[in-house]
Formats: sequence, structure tokens, C-alpha cells
Amino acid sequence: SASPDRARRIFDDIEEQFRLDQDALVKITEQFLADFSLGLSEYNQPMAMIPTFVTGVPNGSETGTFLALDLGGTNLRVCEVQLLGGHQFSLRQQKYRVSEALKTGEAAALFDYLADSVDAFLTEIGSQSPTLPPGNSPFSSPSLFDMPPQPEPFIPLGLTFSFPVEQTALDQGKILTWTKGFAAKNAIGHDVVRLLQDAFDRKHLHVKCVALVNDTVGALLSRAYTAGGCILGSIFGTGTNGAYLERVENIKKLGDNPARQKGGFMVVNTEWGAFNNTRTVLPTTQFDNKLDRESINPRLQAFEKFISGMYLGEITRNILLSLIDAAPRPLLFNGRSSDDLNRHYGLDTAVMSEIEEAWEAGREHPSSEGAPKANGVVPDWQSAHFTDVDKLSHEDVARLERIRGVITQRMGIPAADVSLRDAAVVRWAASLVANRAAKLSACAVATVLVQTERAQLGGGFVSDEERIIIGVDGSLIQFYPNFGTRLRDSLRTLVGAEVEKRVDIGLAKDGSGVGAALCALQAVKQD
Ligand code: ADP
Repeated sequence: SASPDRARRIFDDIEEQFRLDQDALVKITEQFLADFSLGLSEYNQPMAMIPTFVTGVPNGSETGTFLALDLGGTNLRVCEVQLLGGHQFSLRQQKYRVSEALKTGEAAALFDYLADSVDAFLTEIGSQSPTLPPGNSPFSSPSLFDMPPQPEPFIPLGLTFSFPVEQTALDQGKILTWTKGFAAKNAIGHDVVRLLQDAFDRKHLHVKCVALVNDTVGALLSRAYTAGGCILGSIFGTGTNGAYLERVENIKKLGDNPARQKGGFMVVNTEWGAFNNTRTVLPTTQFDNKLDRESINPRLQAFEKFISGMYLGEITRNILLSLIDAAPRPLLFNGRSSDDLNRHYGLDTAVMSEIEEAWEAGREHPSSEGAPKANGVVPDWQSAHFTDVDKLSHEDVARLERIRGVITQRMGIPAADVSLRDAAVVRWAASLVANRAAKLSACAVATVLVQTERAQLGGGFVSDEERIIIGVDGSLIQFYPNFGTRLRDSLRTLVGAEVEKRVDIGLAKDGSGVGAALCALQAVKQD
């Protein structure tokens, strides 16, 4: 029968579409560098390279108590952050859900909801705090002179707003565009701090938004606070983005802005999620095209759609559907789908994580390159219907059985329609998508290392820095099995082992809260 060949051709074709060899990664990084350079020189470029007016990083000695509000991820968060000095902080937070209706309705309603959430936090949580009565301020921390604390008319709040904003001051910035499923009306072009402050004022809250910060900037500042330094903050969560420390002289588009004349360094929010919006360099599969076409922002955030938690599950869902629907004979689940798999965004990236966990559990050497062919323990595609269970080791069967369990429980496919071979195919699809994401993430990190003269593309140049500190945040990098290892593997091929081994990638703990607090501190000091 021609069936095994047909199956093999289809699987090989998909694998080929997802392949990124070394040449491709180098070209992508080169394009990234060119886009960085253009974005630093001119406004309104594909890579926004937004100056943040944050001109230094903390060293961990800073103190004070602040409110932080975080919008831009899966949840809305309100926190009270106490910077304790000595690289320590404490934090209390409450999460609030943002409904689809709020995400896509009127901006005023969304910002009213933010204000209500802060109000609720202060009533329920903040009031328990001895350090945060109305009138709390960073100046009320104990001082040698023990002055009676001056009653402050407001509580200072830092807003972590993780969407592209053209920032013009620490507490001022226009919303450029929505991403990650948000599309609230009458927001684009408006000053986000104004929108929030107006909502506070409408509700007569004694809260003042003093600083606006992107979550990547928050990640950078918070890692700097706990690690004593940091050059890049990056997010691999619902979306992806990075902010890094750039020489002010290189931010040519600041022109004769006083900030430029001061020299030194400034944090630049790259908005790298928009890389390749111009369709120049990323090899795009049919599964990416389907995702993009059906997204609320077609042709935008192209890079993010290859990388981040919001999308990886959806790309994988698209692959699985194409195999389920393969004609004339299905190549997966006996052609059976489920309500979950039929639903737009019905496959959460967290389920891919579970599948890879089920695969990796008990393995001594986690596979950094996940393609089944490479580790030789997945059924040969030539036995397209895979009846040869006998040839698998006991351990491999156990692994595939665990994956089967995840598929039945989390994708809703009846067990009778999930063969061991199907389990192998699902893991293969998940690893194709996640490996590509990790490799492309490495290109973004490599770009920052080269841009800041810490590395050369291809390796070879090593600065005398012992430790190159990077802060990361997001569920993908925290929880996806081997995502970090795969990222590092590709980073090594791009900048050489000498540089890669100095790179210290660590979690920016509570980055959005602590980062916003640190920015609020900088703002209050500047007043
Ligand atoms: P955010 O970026 O919104 O602040 P997260 O960092 O938690 O929040 O990212 C949420 C995204 O991560 C969602 O898209 C979700 O699908 C994905 N996700 C959640 N848990 C996991 C997991 N265990 N493994 C991989 N991805 C996950």
C-alpha cells in the first residue's frame, strides 16, 4: 500500500516547514540587529525600540512602600510592594480577572475596572497593612531624624502596562497598539497614565499613578534589585518582549531631548514581538498562517505568534487538526476530534507542557533537541499505523501511555481513538512548535548581546565581564520542560560557548510588581 509513504511524506513536510538550521538563525539575528538599529534611529519603525526614560538600574539598597498595578497578561494584578533594601522585598498581591468584554469594550470601562480593583485591594488587603494607611508614602520609612511622617495626599502607584506605548516621560505615554487579545476602543493614541488617573479621580481614590513601566522593564529592574545588576529583562509568557540597557548616545531618535544630552544609559523597550511583521525572514508554515488569519491582529506581532504562550498551543492545534482531517485517510485519532480541539485557542500551551513532561519524566538526559527522529525512541514513520509496539522498550511504552492519558484528559479524545503512535505524534508536534520558539527566542537574546558589544555573531569576542545577568519572567520559560535549555543551546551556537557560559539567566521574581515599585521610587525622587 502507498499509505506508509504518504504518511511519511506528510510528517516530513511538516518537519521541514518548522526546520531552522544554523544559517537561518544567523540570518534572523542579523535582521534583528538591523531592525534594532533602525528603531533606535527613527520613530514609527517596525521594531519600536521605545525609550523608557528609566536611566539606571537599582543596586538592591533601595527602600520604600508602593502600590503596583499590572495590566497586560492573563490576569490583572494589584500589589503592595515593600522594598526592604539588602536585595530583599516583600509583596502582597491580589489577582483580578479581566473579562473578554472588558478587553474589547470601551477603554473607560476597562480603566474604571482597574480603579475599582485598586479600591477593592486597598479595602480588603491594603488595610491590613500597617505600612499602608491612606497617606502612606515612601518618605514615611523610618529615618534617622525621626521626623513625624508628612501626611501625603496620595499613595504613589507604579503602573505596569505591557503593551506598546510611546513613552515621553516616566509618567506619560501614548498607547500605540493593543496586543495579546486586547482591543479596547478609544485607547489607541491616548495617554495611558491619564486614562488611569482619570478613573482614580472619578472614584475619588487617593492614589496617584507616578510611573509607567513595561513588564520587560519591570523584569530588568527587579532582577537588578535582587542580583545586583542586569542588562536585559525579557518575558516569555502570554506574549514575548525584551527591554535592555542601551547607551543613550545610540538612541539617535531622541535628538536633542535633554535625556540624550545627559548621556549614560537608558532602558529601551524593544517590543520585539513585532519582529518580522514585514515578513522578511521567518520561515512561516501553513499552521502559522492559519493562526494569523484567525487572530484579532492579523499581520501584527509576527514574532510573538511564533514564540509565546498565547499562541504555541494554537499552532499545535492547527497541526493536529490537519492530521485528523488528512484525506483520504486520517493520520491521527482515527479522524476523531473533540470539542476542545475544535475550539479556537482550545489547546492551552500548558497542555503541551504536560505532554513533554510525561515524555521527559524519568529521563536522565533531557533531550534538548526534541525531534523524535534524533533520539530514535519514537516509532518509525514508515509503519504509518504503528502496530509494532513490540519494538519499543518498556520505558518508552510507559512514556507514551502517560501522554495518552494527557490526551484523553486534557484534549477530550476518547481513549479508544488514541493509539500509542498517536501519542508519539502529538508529542512530536508539540516539540516541533516549542523547539522553534526556543531557537527564535535565542536569536532575540543574542541580538541584545551583540548590540551591547558583549558578543559577536558567530562567537569570538569576549568582553571582560564575568557575569552577564539577564532577568526572565513568564510561564513558558518557567514551566515548559527544557525551554530554557533549548534556548541556551541555540544561544551557544550563535554567540559561542565562551559568552554563553557567562550568561546568567534567572527569574525576575515578581518583576512587574517590584519593577513598578522601583520606577515609582525613581519618579517620586525626581519630583
Ligand atoms: P502573563 O504573561 O500573562 O503575565 P504567564 O507568564 O503566566 O502570564 O503566561 C500565561 C501564558 O502561559 C498562557 O498563554 C498559558 O497558555 C501559558 N502557560 C501557562 N502555564 C503554562 C505551562 N505550565 N507551560 C507552558 N505554558 C504555560
